[in-house]
Amino acid sequence: MDGPLEPRPARPRRCPRCGRPSVERFRPFCSASCRDRDLLDWLDGRYALPAVESEQEEAAEPRRGGPSRETATGED
Ligand SMILES: [Zn+2]
Repeated sequence: MDGPLEPRPARPRRCPRCGRPSVERFRPFCSASCRDRDLLDWLDGRYALPAVESEQEEAAEPRRGGPSRETATGED
């Protein structure tokens, strides 16, 4: 085949949280709000893991929402 490779069209990425087109300043998110929320979720998921190594008592408790992350900058 001797066709030139098609250049990849610059696809606008979409905010992984709400699906709106991402803004370069907040890539890959569309706004600081979505970026912060995702970061909080990420931190919540990483650091809120039960310490299985030594604290079995807490590990036995079912985790709920955790820190209220919905209250911060909930302006859509
Ligand atoms: Zn968004």
